[in-house]
Amino acid sequence: MEILDGKKVSNDIKNEITVAVQEMKANGEKVPHLAAVLVGDDGASLTYVGSKVKTCERIGFDSTLVRMPATTTEEELLEKVKELNENDDIDGFIVQLPLPPQIDTQKVLLAVNPDKDVDGFHPMNFGKMALNLPTFISATPFGILELLERYKVETSGKHTVVIGRSDIVGKPMSILMGRKGCPGDSTVTLTHSRTKNIESIIAQADIVISALGVPNFLKAEMVKEGAVIIDVGITRVPDETKKSGYSIVGDVDFAEVSKKASYITPVPGGVGPMTIAMLLKNTLLARKRHREVTGV
Ligand code: NAP
Repeated sequence: MEILDGKKVSNDIKNEITVAVQEMKANGEKVPHLAAVLVGDDGASLTYVGSKVKTCERIGFDSTLVRMPATTTEEELLEKVKELNENDDIDGFIVQLPLPPQIDTQKVLLAVNPDKDVDGFHPMNFGKMALNLPTFISATPFGILELLERYKVETSGKHTVVIGRSDIVGKPMSILMGRKGCPGDSTVTLTHSRTKNIESIIAQADIVISALGVPNFLKAEMVKEGAVIIDVGITRVPDETKKSGYSIVGDVDFAEVSKKASYITPVPGGVGPMTIAMLLKNTLLARKRHREVTGV
């Protein structure tokens, strides 16, 4: 069994990006600039956005954190999005989800300029991804592809079972694994809470990508000997032994499943760290494209 070490690979990627930024600086070019919009003060969102901004600074990107109160109206947020779309200094930006209930998330994501949509959530970018055209692939699925690629995990002709059909993980992941190319060329089954006989489907999988958010859902007896296991789940469970009062657990019973798996991602330290690294990779790409278009 080999661990798919997202912490190590994400550090490698960040180092590669740091070198690219240093070259940009040496050539007198503008460095990538990522902005993040955070509406409200949800603790988890604050942590995610904070670490995105901090990582930007560490690798030499410019970054801007836009904080708006939980009472922000849809119009106010759309106005901010418009401002960021028009701000030539910003190469890419994200609107941290979830948004407060008074705001229509789809309306906001649709308002983001697809050329600055480094989260890859805009329907135009999602469509390009589905058609195998160059685009921003959203960070978590992109990170999983990168892990599979760097560890040379064979995906061609394999049966991949994706658990969970969210717009940000399960659905794009199922499309990406079935695309022509490498990683890809898998035969994909997308499962969800209404799937009948889910256990017998998972038992046939060469690759399982679990994105449901149910701690210890995937047990050793459910998976085939030698299966590749990708655990996307992140759930906070109370833990008095931790200073924070909680620990982070995935969807997979790691201790037991790892005994049968050929490759497996740990939680934490698997898919999670890859997500930030791929957001930065998308921002670097946005800068390069911006430069090609504007010459600046
Ligand atoms: P989500 O919106 O929370 O939806 C969960 C999905 O799982 C739904 O499609 C649901 O089916 C399905 N599901 C729930 N219970 C099920 C069951 N018992 N059997 C089969 N399917 C079931 O999904 P998400 O936003 O992708 O989040 C999933 C997990 O990944 C969460 O723990 C989240 O924190 C984590 N996550 C991690 C990262 C990362 O960077 N590592 C990024 C994003 C998300 P229905 O559609 O039928 O309701």
